[in-house]
Amino acid sequence: MTSTLVRPLSDDQRTILSALQSFLKNKVAPGAAERDQTGEFPFDLVRELGEMGVMGAQTPEEYGGAGLDTATFAMIIEEIAAYDGSLCLTVASHNSLCQGHIILAGTEAQKQKFLPDLASARKLGAWGLTEPGSGSDSGGLQTRAVEQPDGSWILNGSKNFITQGSVGGTYVVLARTDAPRPGKGKNDGISAFVFNRDEVTGFSIGRKEDKLGLRSSDTAQLIFEDIHLPQGALLGTRAEGFKDVMRVLDGGRIGIGAMGLGLGRAAFEFAARYAMEREQFGKPIAMNQAIGFKLADMDTQLEAARLLLRKAADLKDAGENFTVAAARAKLFASTVGVQACDDAIQILGGYGYIKEYPVERYWRDNRLTRIGEGTDEVQRLVISRDVMGRFGA
Ligand SMILES: Cc1cc2nc3c(=O)[nH]c(=O)nc-3n(C[C@H](O)[C@H](O)[C@H](O)COP(=O)(O)OP(=O)(O)OC[C@H]3O[C@@H](n4cnc5c(N)ncnc54)[C@H](O)[C@@H]3O)c2cc1C
Repeated sequence: MTSTLVRPLSDDQRTILSALQSFLKNKVAPGAAERDQTGEFPFDLVRELGEMGVMGAQTPEEYGGAGLDTATFAMIIEEIAAYDGSLCLTVASHNSLCQGHIILAGTEAQKQKFLPDLASARKLGAWGLTEPGSGSDSGGLQTRAVEQPDGSWILNGSKNFITQGSVGGTYVVLARTDAPRPGKGKNDGISAFVFNRDEVTGFSIGRKEDKLGLRSSDTAQLIFEDIHLPQGALLGTRAEGFKDVMRVLDGGRIGIGAMGLGLGRAAFEFAARYAMEREQFGKPIAMNQAIGFKLADMDTQLEAARLLLRKAADLKDAGENFTVAAARAKLFASTVGVQACDDAIQILGGYGYIKEYPVERYWRDNRLTRIGEGTDEVQRLVISRDVMGRFGA
């Protein structure tokens, strides 16, 4: 159960979380381990989450969403992660990246066209920034969009590692449209585009990735060959799309941090129960200080992560700059979340290493949270730049 933090949960939050928990316990948990084995994408669960409002959690109500604040969204993500990491990544990226970008930068027409189908999960959203040659250095992307005399665009290139890549219906894609303006750096000249897959030709799916974890989330390569996009596909200001990318990622990092926390919490709770039941040398292993202190550290670190996430979420909703707060929260929550999974494996001993118990899956699933939407190192770059700025560099 999610901690109440400093402020008690509101009645609305309690209602949302309690309905979600019962759905997760009854419908998601029973098949999570099997989906991890088969890699089958859970279309039915996603559809039901759409009916519950979770697939448009932060989308304004006027576009069919639930209009929830970021703190509540983070609690939802933590909760889903605690039951199924793969489903969690699907929900997080669909909300924070694809819809997040449209909410941030879309015109009224674009919001009306794309958001209702996304918020209800009639269509799944994907967000394509990463390419084979550009990951952390995402401004080095090679995908190109060239404007045509009638104002439409021709898109060519490819994207790597895209969540919902092969199951998506709506795609937000970053491409270079212009050379960087003098003195602006190479991230200048990048623009975003949004389109429905069934409305274009020249779009195909490349390799579907065979992953360490999150095996029933969909990760695929996208290939664009002379995709003709209408004039209205440009999302945000031409050549200034990278600024929106950074803001979208700031928000996304709260989601990925909450995912790291949720998986770490699931591992902690499983390990704590196990340590009270498993006896060696005539007593529960939890009674050994080595195990009890490990559980104490896990509990403390996860709670601290929750507070950092809450701070970043509240700053975002207050309209304050939350870039550094989100980087700190993501860095810390994913670090202690993965560590909690690793500690849980240790507490379970040999049983932690076999698939009959879920903690090895939690670890495999959680390892992504230290990589996706900016690696640990990228978060440290963001934070260290802020530190250097504050101390005069
Ligand atoms: C399951 C999964 C889902 C994903 N979903 C999406 C998605 O939906 N959309 C999308 O656009 N992308 C997605 N990604 C891509 C993800 O965001 C990138 O993998 C990530 O940003 C890292 O890029 P990279 O893999 O190219 O690693 P690289 O950038 O090549 O980094 C390799 C290593 O070098 C380090 N490094 C790089 N530069 C520096 C530096 N300046 N200082 C110190 N260390 C540095 C990195 O931290 C890392 O440890 C996904 C990836 C995975 C695995």
